[in-house]
Amino acid sequence: MSLLNKLVVLTLPFVPKPIVHYFSKRYIAGPHVEDAVRVIRELNSKGIMATVDILGEEIKDKSEAEAAAAGYCDLLKIINEQKLDANVSLKLTHMGLKLDKDFCYQNIRDIIETAAKYNNFVRIDMEDHTTTSDTIEIFLRLKKDYENVGTVIQAYMRRTQKDLNELIKHKANLRYCKGIYNEPREVAYKDMAIINENFKYGLEKLLHNKCYVGIATHDEKLVWHALKVIDELGLKREEYEFQMLLGVDEQLRDIIVNDGHRLRVYVPFGEQWYAYSVRRLKENPNMAGYVFKAVFGL
Ligand SMILES: Cc1cc2nc3c(=O)[nH]c(=O)nc-3n(C[C@H](O)[C@H](O)[C@H](O)COP(=O)(O)OP(=O)(O)OC[C@H]3O[C@@H](n4cnc5c(N)ncnc54)[C@H](O)[C@@H]3O)c2cc1C
Repeated sequence: MSLLNKLVVLTLPFVPKPIVHYFSKRYIAGPHVEDAVRVIRELNSKGIMATVDILGEEIKDKSEAEAAAAGYCDLLKIINEQKLDANVSLKLTHMGLKLDKDFCYQNIRDIIETAAKYNNFVRIDMEDHTTTSDTIEIFLRLKKDYENVGTVIQAYMRRTQKDLNELIKHKANLRYCKGIYNEPREVAYKDMAIINENFKYGLEKLLHNKCYVGIATHDEKLVWHALKVIDELGLKREEYEFQMLLGVDEQLRDIIVNDGHRLRVYVPFGEQWYAYSVRRLKENPNMAGYVFKAVFGL
């Protein structure tokens, strides 16, 4: 990351919300479920699948989690009624993890039940390291009763290979990504070269062991490596998918799809856009350039 970009990232918490909103619009479908439906339709018309996230995390009150869980059940109904090619992604801290683990488990169970009724699928996103063990534990508990659930593993975590070894035994359906939270060195690798090698090592392990993987990256070197392993193993199209975020590198997205692979785009929507937007802006290598252009009217 350039020095200028680092500076912009450091000052982000002081940037007024309307400006953050302006720069982050591309990453979010909009405030309402209709916005998500519109974006999914556009993606589906290009042969691209979606996973929809209702924005929200770290809720402070059980009623917020209940409302979010009901929102996901409504969303699954809409996806079914409108015949959209989409599943859903959710965060445990949006479902009340930090308030009461069993309450959170029950909320997710209800969503998975609803998804099963519509023959659909629920993925549990991975948040920061304080939630990793709970996420894996809740996922494995749910997996005992349901096939239509998956979770996420982050290649930057030092524990990742051990977690993969365990999850492979359960033939887990996993999204595999680098990881986005700012973690302490004790728990996560900080060196991008190591993170990339750990991504490749874990991906090979998952695909060799016939786990279904959502290969979630915009890093073309890692996409190339995934394609190499897929080719070596002679995997069929239905045995894996690529995943990318809304608003990021649409050209690479089209290249992967036109090459005949399945690809799913993460489509977040809702009023709680701020935390998600800041994470996305921090990893945008052109952030400093955008800000300067806007400020100086270039
Ligand atoms: C579908 C999906 C779901 C995810 N779910 C999770 C999750 O549950 N938990 C979690 O911790 N992380 C999640 N992530 C984020 C992930 O961990 C990475 O932080 C993110 O994908 C960037 O890493 P990268 O592999 O694309 O590589 P990078 O090296 O970060 O990026 C590669 C290239 O992609 C482009 N790029 C990347 N991000 C942006 C951006 N925001 N704006 C513009 N260009 C960009 C740039 O050109 C960059 O050079 C998810 C990512 C995807 C694609």
